[in-house]
Amino acid sequence: MPNPQERPIIVVGGGFAGLSTLLTFSKVHPRPPLVLIEPRPQFVFVPLLYELLSGELQAWEVAPDYAQLLQGRGISHVRDTVSSVNLDDHCVTTEKGDRLSYSQLVLATGAAPDDFGIPGVRDHALGFHSLSDIPPLQERLRQLRLRPTGTSTIVIVGAGATGVELACKLVDLLEGAAQVHLVEQGDQILSRSRAFNREQAEQALKRRDITVHLKTRVLSVTADAVRWNGVDGDVEQSHDGLIWTAGSKPNLPDLLPSAELHQKRLPVDETLQLKGHTDVIALGDIATQDPSGEGQTPWPLSAQAAMQQGQAAASTLEAQLRNRAASPFVFQDLGEMLSLGIGDATLTGMGMTLAGPLAYKLRRLAYLTRLPGPSLGLRSAGAWLLGS
Ligand SMILES: Cc1cc2nc3c(=O)[nH]c(=O)nc-3n(C[C@H](O)[C@H](O)[C@H](O)COP(=O)(O)OP(=O)(O)OC[C@H]3O[C@@H](n4cnc5c(N)ncnc54)[C@H](O)[C@@H]3O)c2cc1C
Repeated sequence: MPNPQERPIIVVGGGFAGLSTLLTFSKVHPRPPLVLIEPRPQFVFVPLLYELLSGELQAWEVAPDYAQLLQGRGISHVRDTVSSVNLDDHCVTTEKGDRLSYSQLVLATGAAPDDFGIPGVRDHALGFHSLSDIPPLQERLRQLRLRPTGTSTIVIVGAGATGVELACKLVDLLEGAAQVHLVEQGDQILSRSRAFNREQAEQALKRRDITVHLKTRVLSVTADAVRWNGVDGDVEQSHDGLIWTAGSKPNLPDLLPSAELHQKRLPVDETLQLKGHTDVIALGDIATQDPSGEGQTPWPLSAQAAMQQGQAAASTLEAQLRNRAASPFVFQDLGEMLSLGIGDATLTGMGMTLAGPLAYKLRRLAYLTRLPGPSLGLRSAGAWLLGS
């Protein structure tokens, strides 16, 4: 039985990194009490948001409740947001005013969209980052489908994976109701992707008649127009919906005293511990390798890396509990999968390159079976197999 006087291990943020830390570490016995502080009632499997937007998957498949995921594991869920962490006093303070002491702290608060301060983005752009972004976008698509074919324009800013995947999905959903423009500041789409996936994506964009504007920087956005600077100089383009996918920034609570940051992220050592604080682990989109290490390949900011780090964080916590040395985290690249519209995808990894309907099915199956909690994962995958 856990000692009620014992200070808990607190995990802040129940996304890919925090949740996999909890699910892995909850199997260790005996252990201190475990507390998750997370404002949302549901975990969101963001790589499947495109399928939720299109209705190919349902919310219960993409966003299972924490109550179900944590059931029977001895983990308390506090529905709140951590506003600050006092590293010297070993406690966190929440927005509702609670102060909780920890024996170990796991910070996994992820990233939020970044508008880089560009005028009008915050007020006029639609987002595609969380569950709450889906209904306004679905409503906009519904309105556009009521208009005469080809009279409307949708602009997506950012041609990273999110922008490209979303552009393909929107064209398939709009069925000709709007012309889609994809705006990218760099000189190519998917600059961080594998060559095979980039080529497949370029073809998918071309097949859908999506206009891609490379080397183009957005200057300002209003409710019905966007101004950008590109190869043709300054251009004002009218729009009937602009979706911002161009950047993200780490979601850090205030740290007291303030911690040193590297590229806005918390530098951690190879066991994911925060420099100078052996009782704090940071991982996922808020963490980066300590830049003083040599010859490192940076960890990608991805769900894949965050889940692997969650498992590594659990083994660091267990090593601390047993007074053993923790093993270093080594990222295993399992490949990259991109959805390219309804029924289409491309994937590269594990010695395989594949595109088309089979890649689409494999991607969906791979994600659904990776949903946390074995019973939910199987139920979701089972629902898909039965429905296909
Ligand atoms: C549309 C989209 C598609 C993507 N597709 C892919 C993909 O196909 N493959 C892939 O590998 N990656 C993908 N990613 C990237 C991936 O989702 C992130 O890298 C991953 O979610 C990072 O995990 P994390 O645990 O660090 O953060 P998150 O999963 O974002 O979780 C952070 C959690 O912390 C909570 N939180 C934030 N602040 C606080 C606070 N102060 N107090 C308490 N809780 C807090 C949030 O509510 C959230 O639940 C995609 C991202 C997006 C937006």
